[in-house]
Amino acid sequence: MSASAFVIEPPAQAAAKVIGGGLFPVRRIFCIGKNYADHVKEMGGDPKKDKPVFFTKPADAIVESGQSFPYAQGTENLHYEGELVVALKGGGKNIATPEAAAALIFGYAAGCDMTRRDLQAAAKGAGGPWDTAKAFDNSAPLGLIVPAKDFPDSKIASSRLKLSVNGEVRQDAALSSMIWSIPEIIVTLSKLFELKAGDLIFTGTPEGVGALAPGDRVEVSIGSLPPLEFSIEPKR
Ligand code: MN
Repeated sequence: MSASAFVIEPPAQAAAKVIGGGLFPVRRIFCIGKNYADHVKEMGGDPKKDKPVFFTKPADAIVESGQSFPYAQGTENLHYEGELVVALKGGGKNIATPEAAAALIFGYAAGCDMTRRDLQAAAKGAGGPWDTAKAFDNSAPLGLIVPAKDFPDSKIASSRLKLSVNGEVRQDAALSSMIWSIPEIIVTLSKLFELKAGDLIFTGTPEGVGALAPGDRVEVSIGSLPPLEFSIEPKR
Protein backbone atom coordinates (compact mmCIF):
# COMPACT_ATOMS: atom_id res chain seq x y z
CA MET A 1 0.00 0.00 0.00
CA SER A 2 1.53 3.32 -0.97
CA ALA A 3 1.50 6.14 1.56
CA SER A 4 -0.56 8.24 -0.81
CA ALA A 5 -3.50 5.86 -0.39
CA PHE A 6 -4.23 7.21 3.10
CA VAL A 7 -7.13 9.66 3.06
CA ILE A 8 -5.92 11.34 6.26
CA GLU A 9 -2.44 11.53 7.81
CA PRO A 10 -1.74 8.13 9.43
CA PRO A 11 -0.97 8.24 13.16
CA ALA A 12 2.64 7.95 14.29
CA GLN A 13 3.96 4.48 15.14
CA ALA A 14 3.82 4.05 18.93
CA ALA A 15 7.26 3.24 20.32
CA ALA A 16 9.22 2.75 23.53
CA LYS A 17 12.87 3.63 24.12
CA VAL A 18 15.50 0.92 24.51
CA ILE A 19 18.48 1.40 26.83
CA GLY A 20 21.57 2.42 24.86
CA GLY A 21 19.48 3.78 21.98
CA GLY A 22 16.91 2.67 19.49
CA LEU A 23 13.15 2.37 19.58
CA PHE A 24 10.93 -0.66 20.17
CA PRO A 25 7.82 -0.35 17.94
CA VAL A 26 4.73 -1.07 20.01
CA ARG A 27 1.98 -3.11 18.31
CA ARG A 28 -0.38 -4.14 21.11
CA ILE A 29 -0.36 -3.85 24.90
CA PHE A 30 -1.68 -6.88 26.77
CA CYS A 31 -2.13 -6.75 30.54
CA ILE A 32 -2.78 -9.38 33.16
CA GLY A 33 -4.86 -8.72 36.27
CA LYS A 34 -4.94 -10.70 39.51
CA ASN A 35 -1.41 -12.13 39.13
CA TYR A 36 -0.20 -11.51 42.71
CA ALA A 37 -2.16 -13.19 45.52
CA ASP A 38 -1.78 -10.35 48.03
CA HIS A 39 -3.16 -7.84 45.49
CA VAL A 40 -6.16 -10.11 44.77
CA LYS A 41 -6.82 -10.09 48.54
CA GLU A 42 -6.51 -6.29 48.88
CA MET A 43 -9.08 -5.95 46.08
CA GLY A 44 -11.50 -8.14 48.03
CA GLY A 45 -10.94 -11.32 46.00
CA ASP A 46 -9.85 -14.86 46.78
CA PRO A 47 -6.64 -15.91 44.98
CA LYS A 48 -7.67 -19.57 45.24
CA LYS A 49 -10.86 -18.90 43.24
CA ASP A 50 -10.05 -15.79 41.18
CA LYS A 51 -7.98 -16.73 38.13
CA PRO A 52 -5.76 -14.13 36.43
CA VAL A 53 -7.58 -12.11 33.74
CA PHE A 54 -6.44 -10.36 30.57
CA PHE A 55 -7.25 -6.90 29.27
CA THR A 56 -5.58 -4.52 26.81
CA LYS A 57 -4.50 -0.93 26.37
CA PRO A 58 -3.96 0.99 23.12
CA ALA A 59 -0.34 1.21 21.96
CA ASP A 60 -0.42 5.01 22.09
CA ALA A 61 -1.14 4.95 25.85
CA ILE A 62 2.65 4.67 26.35
CA VAL A 63 4.35 7.57 28.14
CA GLU A 64 8.13 7.59 28.26
CA SER A 65 9.95 7.96 31.57
CA GLY A 66 10.62 11.47 32.86
CA GLN A 67 7.37 12.96 31.60
CA SER A 68 4.44 14.55 33.36
CA PHE A 69 0.85 14.27 32.18
CA PRO A 70 -2.54 15.53 33.38
CA TYR A 71 -4.66 13.79 36.02
CA ALA A 72 -6.89 11.54 33.87
CA GLN A 73 -10.26 12.97 32.87
CA GLY A 74 -13.45 11.14 33.88
CA THR A 75 -12.21 9.78 37.23
CA GLU A 76 -11.94 10.80 40.85
CA ASN A 77 -9.85 7.78 41.85
CA LEU A 78 -6.79 7.47 39.60
CA HIS A 79 -4.54 4.63 40.84
CA TYR A 80 -0.98 3.51 40.16
CA GLU A 81 -0.10 -0.16 39.62
CA GLY A 82 3.64 -0.76 39.31
CA GLU A 83 4.39 -3.71 37.00
CA LEU A 84 7.16 -5.56 35.21
CA VAL A 85 6.62 -5.24 31.44
CA VAL A 86 7.77 -7.81 28.86
CA ALA A 87 8.55 -6.78 25.25
CA LEU A 88 8.22 -9.46 22.55
CA LYS A 89 10.49 -9.84 19.50
CA GLY A 90 8.41 -12.69 18.07
CA GLY A 91 5.03 -14.30 18.49
CA GLY A 92 2.67 -16.99 17.40
CA LYS A 93 -0.53 -18.81 18.30
CA ASN A 94 -0.88 -21.76 20.67
CA ILE A 95 2.74 -21.59 21.82
CA ALA A 96 3.39 -25.05 23.18
CA THR A 97 6.06 -24.75 25.87
CA PRO A 98 7.43 -22.24 28.39
CA GLU A 99 10.80 -22.60 26.64
CA ALA A 100 9.31 -21.56 23.29
CA ALA A 101 7.58 -18.63 25.03
CA ALA A 102 10.78 -17.46 26.72
CA ALA A 103 12.58 -17.41 23.35
CA LEU A 104 10.15 -14.71 22.14
CA ILE A 105 11.18 -12.16 24.76
CA PHE A 106 13.13 -9.12 23.54
CA GLY A 107 13.47 -7.46 26.92
CA TYR A 108 11.97 -5.99 30.06
CA ALA A 109 11.00 -2.60 31.48
CA ALA A 110 9.43 -1.04 34.54
CA GLY A 111 5.88 0.08 33.84
CA CYS A 112 2.78 1.45 35.49
CA ASP A 113 -0.76 0.26 34.72
CA MET A 114 -2.69 3.46 35.40
CA THR A 115 -6.23 2.63 36.48
CA ARG A 116 -9.44 4.59 36.98
CA ARG A 117 -10.38 2.58 40.06
CA ASP A 118 -13.87 4.09 40.35
CA LEU A 119 -14.75 3.15 36.78
CA GLN A 120 -13.25 -0.32 37.27
CA ALA A 121 -15.41 -0.86 40.36
CA ALA A 122 -18.48 0.27 38.40
CA ALA A 123 -17.60 -2.09 35.54
CA LYS A 124 -17.10 -5.01 37.92
CA GLY A 125 -20.46 -4.27 39.56
CA ALA A 126 -22.28 -4.03 36.24
CA GLY A 127 -20.48 -6.96 34.61
CA GLY A 128 -19.29 -4.51 31.97
CA PRO A 129 -16.02 -4.15 30.07
CA TRP A 130 -12.92 -2.59 31.65
CA ASP A 131 -11.89 -0.35 28.75
CA THR A 132 -12.71 2.99 30.34
CA ALA A 133 -10.98 1.87 33.56
CA LYS A 134 -7.76 0.74 31.91
CA ALA A 135 -7.38 1.74 28.24
CA PHE A 136 -7.23 5.53 28.45
CA ASP A 137 -4.75 8.20 27.34
CA ASN A 138 -1.40 8.17 29.20
CA SER A 139 -2.37 4.94 30.99
CA ALA A 140 0.88 3.08 30.24
CA PRO A 141 3.99 4.93 31.50
CA LEU A 142 7.04 2.82 30.58
CA GLY A 143 10.72 2.96 31.46
CA LEU A 144 13.62 2.10 29.17
CA ILE A 145 13.53 -1.47 27.80
CA VAL A 146 16.52 -3.63 28.77
CA PRO A 147 17.43 -6.60 26.52
CA ALA A 148 16.61 -9.98 28.06
CA LYS A 149 20.26 -11.05 28.16
CA ASP A 150 20.90 -8.21 30.63
CA PHE A 151 17.94 -9.13 32.85
CA PRO A 152 18.08 -12.94 32.90
CA ASP A 153 15.74 -15.28 34.76
CA SER A 154 18.09 -15.34 37.75
CA LYS A 155 17.66 -11.56 38.13
CA ILE A 156 13.89 -11.77 37.70
CA ALA A 157 13.77 -14.43 40.42
CA SER A 158 15.71 -12.26 42.88
CA SER A 159 14.33 -8.79 42.05
CA ARG A 160 11.78 -6.73 43.94
CA LEU A 161 9.32 -4.25 42.48
CA LYS A 162 9.15 -1.02 44.44
CA LEU A 163 6.83 1.88 43.72
CA SER A 164 7.10 5.14 45.59
CA VAL A 165 4.90 8.24 45.56
CA ASN A 166 6.71 11.48 46.46
CA GLY A 167 9.54 9.34 47.86
CA GLU A 168 7.33 7.19 50.11
CA VAL A 169 7.35 3.46 49.30
CA ARG A 170 3.84 2.14 48.56
CA GLN A 171 4.54 -1.16 46.79
CA ASP A 172 7.43 -3.50 47.63
CA ALA A 173 7.15 -7.12 46.54
CA ALA A 174 9.22 -9.92 45.04
CA LEU A 175 8.65 -10.62 41.33
CA SER A 176 8.88 -14.29 42.30
CA SER A 177 5.47 -14.00 43.99
CA MET A 178 3.67 -13.81 40.61
CA ILE A 179 0.94 -16.46 40.31
CA TRP A 180 1.58 -17.07 36.58
CA SER A 181 5.22 -16.88 35.53
CA ILE A 182 6.13 -14.83 32.47
CA PRO A 183 6.37 -17.89 30.15
CA GLU A 184 3.00 -19.12 31.49
CA ILE A 185 1.45 -15.73 30.72
CA ILE A 186 2.79 -15.84 27.15
CA VAL A 187 1.62 -19.45 26.60
CA THR A 188 -1.86 -18.62 27.94
CA LEU A 189 -2.18 -15.36 25.96
CA SER A 190 -1.16 -17.19 22.76
CA LYS A 191 -4.21 -19.44 23.12
CA LEU A 192 -6.41 -16.33 22.87
CA PHE A 193 -4.47 -14.01 20.51
CA GLU A 194 -1.81 -14.38 17.83
CA LEU A 195 1.11 -12.63 19.49
CA LYS A 196 3.56 -10.68 17.33
CA ALA A 197 6.85 -8.85 17.57
CA GLY A 198 6.17 -5.43 19.07
CA ASP A 199 3.69 -6.65 21.66
CA LEU A 200 4.10 -5.56 25.28
CA ILE A 201 2.76 -7.50 28.25
CA PHE A 202 2.12 -5.82 31.62
CA THR A 203 2.53 -8.74 34.03
CA GLY A 204 0.34 -7.62 36.92
CA THR A 205 0.73 -5.58 40.08
CA PRO A 206 1.58 -6.62 43.62
CA GLU A 207 -0.21 -5.37 46.72
CA GLY A 208 -0.14 -1.74 47.81
CA VAL A 209 -2.05 -0.02 45.00
CA GLY A 210 -3.44 3.41 45.79
CA ALA A 211 -4.65 6.78 44.61
CA LEU A 212 -2.63 9.59 43.05
CA ALA A 213 -3.28 13.32 43.28
CA PRO A 214 -2.29 16.19 41.00
CA GLY A 215 1.38 17.06 41.60
CA ASP A 216 2.37 13.56 42.73
CA ARG A 217 5.69 12.11 41.56
CA VAL A 218 5.87 8.34 41.00
CA GLU A 219 8.93 6.12 40.72
CA VAL A 220 8.83 2.41 39.84
CA SER A 221 12.07 0.49 40.33
CA ILE A 222 12.50 -3.19 39.51
CA GLY A 223 15.86 -4.72 40.35
CA SER A 224 18.56 -3.47 37.97
CA LEU A 225 16.11 -2.12 35.36
CA PRO A 226 16.23 1.66 34.80
CA PRO A 227 13.60 3.19 37.09
CA LEU A 228 10.42 4.63 35.59
CA GLU A 229 9.65 8.14 36.78
CA PHE A 230 6.63 10.29 36.00
CA SER A 231 4.53 13.03 37.53
CA ILE A 232 0.88 14.00 37.51
CA GLU A 233 0.63 17.64 36.50
CA PRO A 234 -0.30 19.97 39.37
CA LYS A 235 -3.74 21.60 39.47
CA ARG A 236 -3.76 24.89 37.63
MN1 MN B 1 -2.44 -4.03 36.60
